[in-house]
Amino acid sequence: MQSLILKSGRERSLINRHPWVFSGAVKNMPEAENGEIIKVFSNHNELLGYGFFSPHSQITCRVFEFTSVHITIDENFWKDKIKRAFELRKLIIDSSQTNIYRLLHAEGDFLPGVIIDVYSTVAVVQILIRGTENIKEFIFDALREIGIKFIYVKTKSNTQRLEEVTTPSSWVGEPHVMPIEAKENGIKFLVDVEKGQKTGFFIDQRENRKILGAFSRGKKILNTFSYSGGFSLYALANGAELVHSVDSSKYAIEMCDKNVEDNFINSNHQSFVEDVFEYLQKTEVDYDIMVLDPPAFAKSSKAVANAARGYKNLNLIALKKIKPGGLIFTFSCSQHIDRDLFRKIVFGAAADAKRNVRILRQFTQPDDHPINIFHPEGEYLKGLLLYIE
Ligand code: SAH
Repeated sequence: MQSLILKSGRERSLINRHPWVFSGAVKNMPEAENGEIIKVFSNHNELLGYGFFSPHSQITCRVFEFTSVHITIDENFWKDKIKRAFELRKLIIDSSQTNIYRLLHAEGDFLPGVIIDVYSTVAVVQILIRGTENIKEFIFDALREIGIKFIYVKTKSNTQRLEEVTTPSSWVGEPHVMPIEAKENGIKFLVDVEKGQKTGFFIDQRENRKILGAFSRGKKILNTFSYSGGFSLYALANGAELVHSVDSSKYAIEMCDKNVEDNFINSNHQSFVEDVFEYLQKTEVDYDIMVLDPPAFAKSSKAVANAARGYKNLNLIALKKIKPGGLIFTFSCSQHIDRDLFRKIVFGAAADAKRNVRILRQFTQPDDHPINIFHPEGEYLKGLLLYIE
């Protein structure tokens, strides 16, 4: 096994169990292939841990095990990681109500480079680096051992290009017919893992949708960036007077309509394939509650300034429009916009809207998207519940 040696004074973050070794911290590059497992040493020749080598990435090595003693990394080592992640989910997920959950959250479950989402009997494995591609068969075996019947691999084209991941998006073994029928807090959702965004569903809003539900009785609700209707369904299930879902994707709105039909015989739901900014500008409905859950505007740290303008603009329009006594559920899932910055952006929008705004709650990601305390970058979803006078 090849070794990577850190520059003098650059071992602190690894001693603190941060899993990323940046290229600038490396003194000796190993002569290993992309994806190979390597040992990471300090400049004083102390073993710090084992990780996946990514020579073309700014993150040269992603550490999956911190240890000062040499260990054996075999099939059981990987299976054990998946099984430990599953044990935690058993503690968190009430399987009688919910069979949509994140089984493995990359660094949040001490296995960088892979995400696994479960929809009923199906697992979707998102392979993000060559290192986890090399161990995929062990991951699949572990999934079968915990009772998963169908496995779909999802790889993004930019991952294939940048990280040289070669596995295409495809079923491992027998395919499951699309869409999958699954449930979240007792509400039925159709999930298409082949055509859907992310792995098919935005699992990370589960708890926040429940909170919207608790405020919904008798209310007129606008769910913007609705995708397949996650928030809308909770509003309808909890007695909303009217729910409007807006998304620019025709496919998303079709899924949303199907989800509404599957759960309710009659409903006060209407959907719109439209740009949210345009819809918000022109609507004359006096909504009591608005949900703003846009896609990540900042996909990289370079995009933060533009993204901040996008979030501000969106929140400003909504803050101007909402009726007195109304609520806004506003979110950002950009990892590069942290909680403090997001709050400052919303503050700027509230000041420009010239209205009294109070924060009632602060939102985050659910328990099945755990944040490794040593890897704060894993915290990406943030949101505020605003009360507007
Ligand atoms: N709230 C959703 C997830 C939102 S994901 C849920 O709980 O499931 C973001 C969605 O925004 C995607 O469905 C995407 O199609 C949509 N979208 C992106 N830009 C948009 C725009 N300008 N106007 C309307 N919808 C947009």
